[in-house]
Amino acid sequence: MKKQRRVVVIGAGVGGLTAAALLAKSGYEVTVLEAHVYAGGCAGTFFHKGFRFDAGATVAGGFQPGGPHHIVGEMLGLQWDIERTDPSWIVHLPDRTITAWSDDQRRQEEHQRTLPELHRFWGIQQHAAEIAWKFAARIPEFPPRSLGDVARLIGKIRPDMIPIAPLALLTMGQLLDVVGVDRRNWAARTFIDAQLLISAQTTADRANALYGAIAIDLPRTGTYHVKGGMGGIAKTLAESLLANGGQVIYRHAVTQIAVQPDGTFCLETNKGHTFAADIVLANLTPWALDSLLGDQSPTGLQREVQRRRSTWGAFTLYLGIPLDMLPDSASHFQIVRSYDQPLGEGNSVFVSISDPADQDRAPAGYVAVTLSTHTQIDRWWQLRETDPDGYQARIAQYRDRLLDALETVMPNVRQRAKLILPGTPAAFQRFTRRPAGMVGGFPMTSLFTARSPHTAIPNLWMVGDSVFPGQSTAGVTAGALRVAAEVLRS
Ligand SMILES: Cc1cc2nc3c(=O)[nH]c(=O)nc-3n(C[C@H](O)[C@H](O)[C@H](O)COP(=O)(O)OP(=O)(O)OC[C@H]3O[C@@H](n4cnc5c(N)ncnc54)[C@H](O)[C@@H]3O)c2cc1C
Repeated sequence: MKKQRRVVVIGAGVGGLTAAALLAKSGYEVTVLEAHVYAGGCAGTFFHKGFRFDAGATVAGGFQPGGPHHIVGEMLGLQWDIERTDPSWIVHLPDRTITAWSDDQRRQEEHQRTLPELHRFWGIQQHAAEIAWKFAARIPEFPPRSLGDVARLIGKIRPDMIPIAPLALLTMGQLLDVVGVDRRNWAARTFIDAQLLISAQTTADRANALYGAIAIDLPRTGTYHVKGGMGGIAKTLAESLLANGGQVIYRHAVTQIAVQPDGTFCLETNKGHTFAADIVLANLTPWALDSLLGDQSPTGLQREVQRRRSTWGAFTLYLGIPLDMLPDSASHFQIVRSYDQPLGEGNSVFVSISDPADQDRAPAGYVAVTLSTHTQIDRWWQLRETDPDGYQARIAQYRDRLLDALETVMPNVRQRAKLILPGTPAAFQRFTRRPAGMVGGFPMTSLFTARSPHTAIPNLWMVGDSVFPGQSTAGVTAGALRVAAEVLRS
């Protein structure tokens, strides 16, 4: 290996920046090319009329000792500007309210008070999550790519993992059946579905039980406020990268990746600049990577992008509201309006309020609020292309659905909000460059079909929420740790 190898990272999302900062710390010459004017992508914070709004991600997890952000912080020697929050969030179901406490005793009392029929389920979930967390820290080979990886994985299996192994073959819905939670128990089933939708991008009947057990463990492991907004995670990583000799070049969208005959890469940007690299990390979805590779896209990747179904999009609302409207109980709420409708499309809405003590987020006397709901992208694009009036009407309809949900916890918010700004899948496409505004990675339905970061082109890797373990800033950080370790090994 040459003393310094040139790494180009496409995209300054949390996944791309984590890998970039780790490789710069290890002596690589790292350049991050970012299309937008600031870092963070879906976990970025944007400035609008005096407010700093979290664009997508609002809840920060994975900073607990042994969590992915904590591990990266130790490796890079950096301090995260964060503060622990408890409760993590409050779930408003149509007939009851459930507080997701981090504190063990309060969480158990709350579970017993609100949904005692989930008692056995929580016992299995917590046990599985505790063992799986320990295992996850030791298995950079997952998902395996070679027989060698499989052999190494088998070598790491410990006796305490054997009882939870069947969960790898079940869905969460089947696990709920096994522990006797009636399918007509709407409150219990909807509560678990709602937790899984935000953490595994799918509901119990499709979510893998082992993955789901870890995904819904977030309140127990702890959630945090990031000072200045979620974009602070990317900002801290970018500072570390710079301190170790790397660079982030903003306003440069990569338009083409050419693989050279000697196996190196030449990247072109929309500014007409070219960048040579020995190693490329693509903080992109498979669709975006395939399009940048053009004719050089490997057959497997071409097949993948044709075969895969669209993932979720998001509809968001950004509100500036007066401080005196705040419920004093929590910073995050999940509101489910009806047991009769599927979740998403405004029937489940996640609400996040900026820390009132964080004066960087809003003008005096106000807070910045982000609302989001999962939405299927196809109808948005059809209307946008064929029926501009219908498209505007749909924006108004979704805006109303989200505000109706919010008014269940903050009456009269429509009248008192200083500003209300909607965000559609088209806005996510524009600001994060994710094709069609598909966000949040792939639903975690099976551990056996999880996507690895390999691309079939040597020295070209994927990072970000399209690769295992998928969505969330903690998830993409775990994925980036694996990629950085593999680059160092190679
Ligand atoms: C509405 C919503 C709510 C969410 N809530 C949470 C939450 O509460 N907690 C949580 O942990 N996670 C949450 N997530 C998920 C989380 O935000 C993402 O999983 C994670 O941030 C994705 O990171 P990434 O590394 O994959 O990169 P991305 O965020 O996708 O960033 C990719 C970056 O690459 C840049 N880029 C793309 N193409 C190019 C190109 N050709 N050239 C140069 N640059 C390019 C983009 O501009 C962007 O900055 C949420 C997501 C959404 C959309």
